[in-house]
Amino acid sequence: MSQTELSASQNIISTTCAYCGVGCGIDVQVDSDTRQVTLAGQSNHPANFGRLCSKGSALGETISLNERLLQPHINGEQTDWDSALQTVADGFKKIIDEHGPDSVAFYLSGQLLTEDYYVANKLMKGFIGSANIDTNSRLCMSSSVVGHKRAFGTDTVPGCYEDFENAKLITLVGSNTAWCHPVLFQRIKRYKEANPDVKVVVIDPRKTQTCDIADLHLPINLGTDVWLFNGLLNTLNTHNKINQDYVSQHCQGLDDALTAAALSSGNLSRLSKTLGVDEDDLAKFYQWFCDTEQAVTLYSQGVNQSTSGTDKVNSIINCHLATGRIGKVGMGPFSMTGQPNAMGGREVGGLANMLAAHMDFLPDNLQRVQTFWQSPTLAQQPGLTAVDMFDAIAQGKIKAVWIMATNPVVSLPNADHVKAALQTCELVVVSDCIQHTDTTALANVLLPATPWSEKDGTVTNSERRISRQKALLIPAGNAKHDWWQLCEVAKKMGFSEGFNFESPVEIFREHAALSGYENNPQQRLRDFDISALANISHSDYQNFSPTQWPINREHPHGRARFFADGQFYTPNRKGNLLALTPKLPQHLPTNDYPLKLNTGRIRDQWHTMTRTALAPKLNQHISEPFVEMHANDAQARQLSDGQIVRVHSKWGDMLGRLVVNTLPKKGDLFVPMHWTAQLASRGRINAVVNPVVDPYSKQPESKHTPVQVSPFAAKVYGYVLSKQPLQQWPTMDYQVQVKGEQHTRMEFAHSQSITDPMRTLLSGLGYASEQAVSDAGLELLSYQDAQLGIYRLALMKTDALVALAFIAPTPQLPQRTWLAMQFAKDNLDNRARNALLSGYAPAGEDIGRIVCACFSVGENTIAAHAKAGCQTPQAVGLACKAGTNCGSCVAEIKEIITQNQ
Ligand code: SF4
Repeated sequence: MSQTELSASQNIISTTCAYCGVGCGIDVQVDSDTRQVTLAGQSNHPANFGRLCSKGSALGETISLNERLLQPHINGEQTDWDSALQTVADGFKKIIDEHGPDSVAFYLSGQLLTEDYYVANKLMKGFIGSANIDTNSRLCMSSSVVGHKRAFGTDTVPGCYEDFENAKLITLVGSNTAWCHPVLFQRIKRYKEANPDVKVVVIDPRKTQTCDIADLHLPINLGTDVWLFNGLLNTLNTHNKINQDYVSQHCQGLDDALTAAALSSGNLSRLSKTLGVDEDDLAKFYQWFCDTEQAVTLYSQGVNQSTSGTDKVNSIINCHLATGRIGKVGMGPFSMTGQPNAMGGREVGGLANMLAAHMDFLPDNLQRVQTFWQSPTLAQQPGLTAVDMFDAIAQGKIKAVWIMATNPVVSLPNADHVKAALQTCELVVVSDCIQHTDTTALANVLLPATPWSEKDGTVTNSERRISRQKALLIPAGNAKHDWWQLCEVAKKMGFSEGFNFESPVEIFREHAALSGYENNPQQRLRDFDISALANISHSDYQNFSPTQWPINREHPHGRARFFADGQFYTPNRKGNLLALTPKLPQHLPTNDYPLKLNTGRIRDQWHTMTRTALAPKLNQHISEPFVEMHANDAQARQLSDGQIVRVHSKWGDMLGRLVVNTLPKKGDLFVPMHWTAQLASRGRINAVVNPVVDPYSKQPESKHTPVQVSPFAAKVYGYVLSKQPLQQWPTMDYQVQVKGEQHTRMEFAHSQSITDPMRTLLSGLGYASEQAVSDAGLELLSYQDAQLGIYRLALMKTDALVALAFIAPTPQLPQRTWLAMQFAKDNLDNRARNALLSGYAPAGEDIGRIVCACFSVGENTIAAHAKAGCQTPQAVGLACKAGTNCGSCVAEIKEIITQNQ
């Protein structure tokens, strides 16, 4: 279903979503004069068949020029491109000449296109001669890369999305698919609704919205996945479910893997205690897996982001290899990537431990790549991975870093350390499309990059499908493509020969040619081979249809699955089962830090919110950094829902609003990873996260940090809503800025009493006194009860609302949604006007907290329909449209129905 009806009379540009690894196709119509776009899901794209989630649907709201970086800057001063690029080239060259190639680094992103990534990798590894190039994909799925390589000999995702629609058992491990990969979740959900006998199992310590479709939820203790899957392997063995024929012909390592699995499993009762799950439920999952040939196991960051991430991946793959359930329709392990082009980064070699085109740092490969690139000085060994790279910057070993399309000051663990490292670094170059981020604030040289709507190239989604991302608009201001910036710097460094690219298609052709260079599909030399595209014409590139690699002589139209023939990319072509000994996370809870912090994503925001927070629609569902805690833990600490709390660890602290429920397990906390210092004074949870990494993949442990939670001793709570930007707002201990429809909102809390609160509110809004309000032609409405500490004011211009501000001694403040909606009205009637300071909407007008972002439907509206007899989400959808677009809110709608019947 399309979100928007596109006009048949205008040209449609087919492109790909900028966000998650599902890789949905989008059809766009552009009004070049206004730079406005209208978009809808691409009905024939094999990833989404016309569907988009709330984030994809709101892409058009994120492309305004207001927050854009449009000019190059050096040390905060605007400059021209030539000066900026010369400064970068000279800076890198000087440092390399003095300290060698390993004294510089690139830190990239899964938001870059494959063409950008290819050029960056070629420059750093092939011409600068260092492998210090890593990417934020290290934080996302590098454990899957290593797990694949250990099991298959190469980094191959064996299956495809269609497998979910052909499976009889779908197991979702460490993945809140409903919120993080919503369109794939909706595909699974529809398939299950049409096939009720299909079983869905969710394995996640937290009861997420994904559990909405689960027949079974196993809330295992954080970090115990290897115990769980070793237990499954052991059960497969004891139930004679090992596919002996397949294993004897196509695999190795089974005996050792079984011995290790048996050792860690013990009996079911002991194992269920280790896992913290019900013994019968565990037995049920094992039985279902034993009995179901068509089984797909999807896993995501909950598996990867761990000091045992690689072992967790292999523990899942072990079970599929042992049963031969891999590479066939409806079967296989499936790694779901977080980012839109994490896979493209893997393909070009954008990770520090990969060379290029899925080749490792082996002698043959080194020679091959050096010859192909005509490289003067090729890196001979892997470089520093993300956490080590920023440590090396802190230690002064890396003296120049170029960061592209990512915000490590927010997203890397031990984030304050990362910030301090960049503050001391000799040369920090940042390419970004947004002017003010926590990372651009530390740049010596700031380069304006083109964003999603202006970029042109390719991306690869989680099922190996390469799709085109197309420019919708000409670059704004002085923005330039990332690949162009890299090529120009390369030329200024004296590497003209390798970087004379004029367009993305030229880069793509070279990338495709390298993938096929000295590669032979029949001999199974390398899995990544798109050599059939090495001479692709400009028009074929322009019209390229989404295709799953390999794309070569053997598979000119791509290939859905690998390994059905039992032939892998290891030297003897056998798949490897690994003997795995489960390990606890490196840092365990202590008396000082007794809780376990788990971080993750929320439904309507993407990464560090530099783009999604620009869309008011996406800020409605969850507007503030929050700390989700089990009710028993909150009670033990005398904490209550809505108050501000401090989460602290050995590494740092953050402030967030407490949400008390029973979704996390007792002893666990969940905090979203999105908020930055640009939006929230102390909302960066990665300042708290421990920087330990998996020994094989070097992926950080983002799901398990020992922490404590304490009340933040707030004397005042409040919020302000204003038509104008809040440029004079005083600094408070806790403050969060939220972009709304025709207004800005600031939530705040402060540990000190505010003297003269009314004056403080007025001056924060830009008026020194009541007289100044009157001089500006505004009317002041106010209410105060000094004894109770309650202060409220509204500023009106004739009958239109200009600003509202509330202060109270507790977090119990009026609901924001109805008040915020009044800013869209030119004339407030008397009922509305009178209701402003009470904070209570006139009867029937308060729609409550927004649940459905696509159609802005609130909790109260849904509850009213439930009370009126709508007993299913479908009935609610018919009544008010909630949940009928992307469907991501359906689980919440169900819950509201239950509460109101
Ligand atoms: Fe974009 Fe949503 Fe599709 Fe992911 S699921 S690619 S965020 S539309």
